[in-house]
Amino acid sequence: MAEDPRRRTPRTDAVLADPGVAEACRRLGRDRVKATVSTVLESCRRGEVAPEDVVASVLALLPAAPGSLRPVINATGVVVHTNLGRAPLSEAAVEAVVRAAGPTDVELDLDSGRRGRRGTATMAALAALVPDAGDVHVVNNGAAALGLAALALAQGRRIVIARGELVEIGDGFRIPELLESVGVELREVGTTNRVRLADYEAAVDESVAFLLKVHPSNFRVEGFTSSVSVEELAGLGRRTGLPVVVDIGSGLLAPHPRLPEEPDATTVLRAGASLVTASGDKLLGGPQAGLLMGEAELVHRLRRHPFARALRVDKLTLAALEATLSGPATPVAEALAARPEELMARARALALAIGPGLATAVASEGRVGGGGGPGVPLPSAAVALPHELAAPLRLGEPPVVGHVHDGRLLLDLLTVPAALDDTVADAVRRVAPADAREA
Ligand SMILES: *Cc1c(COP(=O)(O)O)cnc(C)c1O
Repeated sequence: MAEDPRRRTPRTDAVLADPGVAEACRRLGRDRVKATVSTVLESCRRGEVAPEDVVASVLALLPAAPGSLRPVINATGVVVHTNLGRAPLSEAAVEAVVRAAGPTDVELDLDSGRRGRRGTATMAALAALVPDAGDVHVVNNGAAALGLAALALAQGRRIVIARGELVEIGDGFRIPELLESVGVELREVGTTNRVRLADYEAAVDESVAFLLKVHPSNFRVEGFTSSVSVEELAGLGRRTGLPVVVDIGSGLLAPHPRLPEEPDATTVLRAGASLVTASGDKLLGGPQAGLLMGEAELVHRLRRHPFARALRVDKLTLAALEATLSGPATPVAEALAARPEELMARARALALAIGPGLATAVASEGRVGGGGGPGVPLPSAAVALPHELAAPLRLGEPPVVGHVHDGRLLLDLLTVPAALDDTVADAVRRVAPADAREA
């Protein structure tokens, strides 16, 4: 009678000693690998895995890389996609993050051997791009920037804000709730669609700490509307001695020709704003961060506030942000500068590579996304496929995320770096039967 294979179940130590498994331990951590080995040995004892297949099963079950976040190909045409982590970092920013990961001179002056000021180069890079700001500071995200401004300048007092700017930015994040959570009372002026300077004027008294203008980043009000410009608010601010804080949201530092309605830090400061807040990972194209730019005295007060420490960015963010500000064009900037003819040429080549029976190149429209430019179409090109491929492509490796439009799956190339076109073609070929791809 043949020996029962279950009695030949290898020992845990023996499996862990296999060179491939040992290598996985170095990459993924011994505990993680050991847990998988135990699972597979359990199956082996139950006779579901042959003893000689144990190592192969362990290796097949282990993830290819540490961490559970998976890189995804963004073929949605939405440049700043909230669910895909907002702005993708430039290669330069990625390299800077990797270099900063170990011990770095983030708070050490290597010349003198003494303690150095944290983030000096990153602040200098930001200040260089926003020369109208007397000083700049960086915190954890846009909400932290606005929250710190409210906390340090207006706690226990009032902020005047237009009703049409009491906005929800995304996933339940509401600007008015953020402001109230730090002990500030809002004095709302105007109506949803209209507000005049006189409304602000009537609201000002000695309980008011500043006038706030918030850019409604993700919607537009059309029709019978009026709002008060930063210039007008700044005039009122000068007359009443109140700072004017402007939350521009997107992080544009200068005007962008494709997004004429999107506010930018330089223009807003020139118009007289005292302090501007913005995000780092929207149109700026960098890491999650909150930018504060404006009058030196105000920025100093924010930086010195005790709570500023709780909003401090780490060295990886400082590194990525500096490389974003002073390095080559970001993927977001490149997507905004993309030429539709070039995207169409890529779409045609890609459709051909996939198979003309399945794929066709079509004109499409991308969008800026959660980062700004609501309603601004970005002319683009896409590969159209049967919509049934949406799920298998999303579940593939790497996952390719497109969007279904008029019953077809569109893979929009606006947000796909050209270097990934072959990867996209391979991904589609893997999930589509060969006979369907022939003409
Ligand atoms: C996005 C946005 C915020 C929030 O910024 P986060 O970086 O997501 O915290 C605040 N205000 C406006 C106007 C925004 O567009």
